[in-house]
Amino acid sequence: MSTFTPIKEKNLSTVKSKNLKVALVGNPNCGKTTLFNKLTGSNQHVGNWPGVTVEKKEGFLKFKNMTIDVLDLPGIYSLSPYSSEEIITRTCLLEDDPDLIINIIDATVLERNLYLTTQLLELQKPMIVAFNMIDIVEKKGDLIDYRKFRSELNVPIIPISANKGTGIKELLDLAIEHIVNKDKPIIKKIYEDKIEDVISKIENELNSGFSLSRVKREISLRWLAIKLFENDEMILKKINLSRSQKENIRLYESVISLPEHMDAQMLIADQRYRYIYKLCKNAVKRKNTPEHITLTDKIDRVVTNKFLAVPIFALIMILTFYITFGPIGSFFRTEFEFFIKDILGGNISNLLMNLGASEWTKSLIAGGIIEGVGSVISFLPQVVILFTLLSILEDSGYMARAAFITDKLLRKVGLSGRAFVPLLMGFGCTVPAVLGTRILEKENDKKLTILMIPFMSCSAKMPVYAMFIGALFKEHQVLVISSIYLLGILMAIFTAAIFKKPVLKGKTSSFLMELPEYRFPNFKNLCMHVGERVKDFVVKAGTILLVATIVIWFLQSFNFNLQMVLDRRDSILASFGMTIAPIFSICGFGDWRAAVSLLSGLIAKESVISTIAVLYGTGGLACTSQVIMDQFSVISAYAFMVFVLLYTPCIAALSAIHKEFKSFKWTAIAVIYQLTLAWLVSAIVYQLGTFIYNVV
Ligand code: GDP
Ligand code: MG
Repeated sequence: MSTFTPIKEKNLSTVKSKNLKVALVGNPNCGKTTLFNKLTGSNQHVGNWPGVTVEKKEGFLKFKNMTIDVLDLPGIYSLSPYSSEEIITRTCLLEDDPDLIINIIDATVLERNLYLTTQLLELQKPMIVAFNMIDIVEKKGDLIDYRKFRSELNVPIIPISANKGTGIKELLDLAIEHIVNKDKPIIKKIYEDKIEDVISKIENELNSGFSLSRVKREISLRWLAIKLFENDEMILKKINLSRSQKENIRLYESVISLPEHMDAQMLIADQRYRYIYKLCKNAVKRKNTPEHITLTDKIDRVVTNKFLAVPIFALIMILTFYITFGPIGSFFRTEFEFFIKDILGGNISNLLMNLGASEWTKSLIAGGIIEGVGSVISFLPQVVILFTLLSILEDSGYMARAAFITDKLLRKVGLSGRAFVPLLMGFGCTVPAVLGTRILEKENDKKLTILMIPFMSCSAKMPVYAMFIGALFKEHQVLVISSIYLLGILMAIFTAAIFKKPVLKGKTSSFLMELPEYRFPNFKNLCMHVGERVKDFVVKAGTILLVATIVIWFLQSFNFNLQMVLDRRDSILASFGMTIAPIFSICGFGDWRAAVSLLSGLIAKESVISTIAVLYGTGGLACTSQVIMDQFSVISAYAFMVFVLLYTPCIAALSAIHKEFKSFKWTAIAVIYQLTLAWLVSAIVYQLGTFIYNVV
């Protein structure tokens, strides 16, 4: 392992411009990112469900005086251009033209993984195959005859274990040797004679000349011929053939009579699978017969059981909320808040006093920054707890089951189960979630999912709930928080139902997803995930929120003549807030300060908290929750939380939404819809709540 040194990203400038380029290609979850991290030393997100690595990642490593440029491409099951991952990976292979493809295979599920291999081999680019996870294969006692695979597939094969590090040096040696020799795979005919015949005829036809837009270097004619046979849309669009070529190709193809319900692509897929199954039957001896029941199977029998799946899922989520918002989370938050505001803030205030700072400096620092940013920062412990729990669920393999369980539900609203991943990401942050919709194959699925995501309550809203719950709902914390999250989910489903007709006309695409084996969460992964979140949270508090808080403090401290005001109601902010506040009277929070805090929430949701803290604070170290208790009733507080849950997401999220919609009209529809829905539901909650309260 010491023979190669990963290059840290900051040293990238020293890398020579002419690098060797190696692309890691394989199914989702076969270990590409793990291998990539081992090779390049960078900490890329290692996910346990599809959709995490949508964009390709690049890293560098030095090996034997050579600099190798490693690409971690999105996981794919085939080279057909249907999903975003497939398109990215295929385009990279064709247009970037890497010097070597390393095809990584999960050796525990060879049959499925080799399907991609057969297609990669047809590209006729220098390639080696790494059989990964041999540690598991060995532990299970399975026997793989590598010699048979090598001679049958005509490609170098090397067993490795990406996370244990075995075989990596050999892999690199082999890779270099291969790049230097520019060895290309020898083509193995795997289709039945009739089809092979057509393919070679198309190949000959192509030989007489064609042009293919944007493909840099030489491309395998056989691969192209197969793609033409399959009627591959992207290739058909890019390729330029003469009329006679097109006619001839159609003529050749017409001799193949397709079985009923099968198109050319399915025929080819079927034959590839037949070939692979035959090969594996000869070359693999599995110790455990398929009937063997693993621990994972046993757990799955309960967890994905028809009747138990949903209750168990709900229970796990409630438990997560209980730990985060219940006694444990609250305890840490209170302690942390005490530290930030009383100890840290108190000391700073004293220091300012002793230094004889001016009135407005004291007001800015104590009443503005410490009060505002401090209130948000004090929720850090709860952010850490929530993300630790979610990471454990993800890393253990449970989230993949959750996707599996929700698949059926999502189908009912007309979405593919794949939409679960971006929807789930929405509970973290809307921005990556919206970008994550790229894994959806159908444009309509994508649009609908983007409309739904903002209702998955993002983590920035969590402090807002935590603050209100801490102040007003001490006894029913878990019930209240669960109901808010549940309301968000219900509203997302409601949204799907309304927009399904105008948006969704196509059929939903099928969803191929694997359930990884359960395992103990990896501590390093856990720290990485939670660390990322904490960093985001703190950086946001120190930048956007700091600026927003200062602006809010300024606007509430000065009047239009830029004189400091004694009564905030004379300030610039108040006169502005008072104009919009009446809209919210019907929702129970028609106070100008509440209206302004919602408005500032458009910058970032945490800003709702910091603004409330600054505006309701007494310019000192007043306890915000006390002020909330004075200003809100239980019902108006709940209506306020509902509004925060449903209204337009922050600017960053909106710009991501706009980027993916690529349509001003749809972005506008989304914003208007969110604002209207938030206002309506919040008003209903308040009015109905008040009515019931008065009756009872
Ligand atoms: P990717 O989707 O192809 O990028 O796969 P990842 O690198 O995210 O890996 C998927 C899962 O497989 C992770 O939980 C890894 O820790 C695990 N994994 C990767 N390589 C190995 C290996 O050689 N042995 C074992 N036991 N697990 C592995
Ligand atoms: Mg990956």
